Amino acid sequence: MAKILIVEDEAKIARFLELELKHEGYEVVHAADGRTGLELALQKDVNLVLLDIMLPGLSGIEVCRRVRMESQVPIIMLTAKDDVTDKVAGLDMGADDYMTKPFAIEELLARIRVALSRHSSKHQEEAEKDELSYGALVLNTAAHSCEYNGEEVTLTKKEYDLLECLLRNKNVAMSREQLLSTVWGYEYMGDTNVVDVYVRYLRQKIDDKYGIHMVETIRGIGYMIKED
Ligand code: CA
Repeated sequence: MAKILIVEDEAKIARFLELELKHEGYEVVHAADGRTGLELALQKDVNLVLLDIMLPGLSGIEVCRRVRMESQVPIIMLTAKDDVTDKVAGLDMGADDYMTKPFAIEELLARIRVALSRHSSKHQEEAEKDELSYGALVLNTAAHSCEYNGEEVTLTKKEYDLLECLLRNKNVAMSREQLLSTVWGYEYMGDTNVVDVYVRYLRQKIDDKYGIHMVETIRGIGYMIKED
């Protein structure tokens, strides 16, 4: 059965949702603040996230934004006020759906079913496609391997993660902060220069070695792998 994460600071609502969802047969986990919610949402076994917007720690919008950098887990935003800005912001950040509190539980359950089934069919298609590429460079995400023209490119774990993140976001200018939180984790407290250092490693191992210009510097922002 699907596992649903409830990120909600109001204990009464969280408890109510938990009981209803468990009654439907779902497994339920609960986080009462944004940071814990983000951490739990990124765990592989969570199948759907119910995400309140007004949260202590990180806001629901911010949690949603950060989850979307790494995961396509379905997210249904819960907004207390009938505020169009919140809805739009949530959907802009990649939420799948939203509900305005107070809501009828039957409606929420129906939307959960829709989001779960939509995701599982989409997920299957994506799971079959476990290769990311750029020209002659192929990253096999199942095997965690990297090849250029069939020749193995040896990357460290962080170099690989950084390359995978850039390839998954091809043609998107990624800021140092985005790369940092995706590859090193949002709790990373070190220097943001680490991103530049690892981009340099990647360029040495790939761009310089094979005479290509894969990782572009986007002035004032960060880096991007561009492909037409
Ligand atoms: Ca709240």
